[in-house]
Amino acid sequence: ISSRVYNFSAGPAAMPVSVLKELQEELLCLPGAGASLMELSHRGQVFTDILHGAENSIRSLYGISDDYAVLFLQGGAALQFSMIPANLIRGNDKTAQYIVTGSWGKKAIGEAKKEGNIESIYDAKESNFDHVPSPGDYKVRDDAAYLYYCSNETIQGVQFAQAPSCPTSVPLVCDASSDLLSRPLDINKYGIIYACAQKNAGPAGVTVVIIRRDLLDHAPANLPGYMTYKNHADGDSMWNTPPTFAVWALGKVARWLTDDIGGLAAMQAVNEQKAKLVYEVIDANSNFYKGHAKPDCRSKMNVTFNLPNDELLGRFVKEAASQDLASLKGHRSVGGIRASIYNAMPLEGAEALASFMKDFASKNG
Ligand code: PMP
Repeated sequence: ISSRVYNFSAGPAAMPVSVLKELQEELLCLPGAGASLMELSHRGQVFTDILHGAENSIRSLYGISDDYAVLFLQGGAALQFSMIPANLIRGNDKTAQYIVTGSWGKKAIGEAKKEGNIESIYDAKESNFDHVPSPGDYKVRDDAAYLYYCSNETIQGVQFAQAPSCPTSVPLVCDASSDLLSRPLDINKYGIIYACAQKNAGPAGVTVVIIRRDLLDHAPANLPGYMTYKNHADGDSMWNTPPTFAVWALGKVARWLTDDIGGLAAMQAVNEQKAKLVYEVIDANSNFYKGHAKPDCRSKMNVTFNLPNDELLGRFVKEAASQDLASLKGHRSVGGIRASIYNAMPLEGAEALASFMKDFASKNG
């Protein structure tokens, strides 16, 4: 394959071409620095400016106040499955509550149980993770250490349109790995909201954690240093060497979102348009394509559906690839097709997929 395809990978995922070009142009010698960014000390002015620039872009995209720290960490989103309970419930007798709507929530609660008292207050596994609950379906206790949920389950393709309801006394904690930066949000609703970068925000290697500062003070004293949020907040995300390349790229993606796209509301409008194109084909050919998520919980980021049989599924993936529509095979645990249409997937990519799907259904249905 010699040219770029429409890449529907779930992550690491497509990045904006203009950002990749800028990285390419500046990779060997960052203008003014005399070296590649990858060769510079994280404590030097050049990198600290880059890190603060990335932080400021994220702050201004969401209007994040100084009540929150914005951290750039390593260990992927998966380390947050442990860091959150380790900081908030390890060594105390509080209980954290979890809403589980897919594979990532399931993994998160599994890790959290190693740290302290955990209660699952909603689990959608009986219906094969095809929906998110309504507020009346679960009860959050007023004294919970936090309420945890995953806003977009990347594997099943189910997304919360609104945050779950949560008493103001309880910090709301959200894994937004696959939808942070895809739409506007009121960050003030959250105690912690975090995302690995490799879907909407850049390359793998950095995880953005937005944490309300009062939550920095709950960690047990013997928690390992890297695991302790306060160390990262006090050290300006430089308690140890941050992933400098990934932070650099993330900063460029955030600037692209602001300058080229026009911010989160504009990005959301495009994302909704892309999702509508694909879901409309599923609905118009409902004898052929079977959507996984219940319609009111459909993800705008990961469109999951199946075909009538495995033979057609295999042909779909193969013929799509021959038309430069790549990485459409679903996650092994759900099967079927998953089309990830994150921020960097252009509208034309979703149009090309929708048109291929229409043709494929009419030829094989
Ligand atoms: N949460 C969600 C919603 C994800 O999609 C992923 C990655 N696909 C993860 C957590 C885990 O991320 P990482 O591999 O960076 O640890």
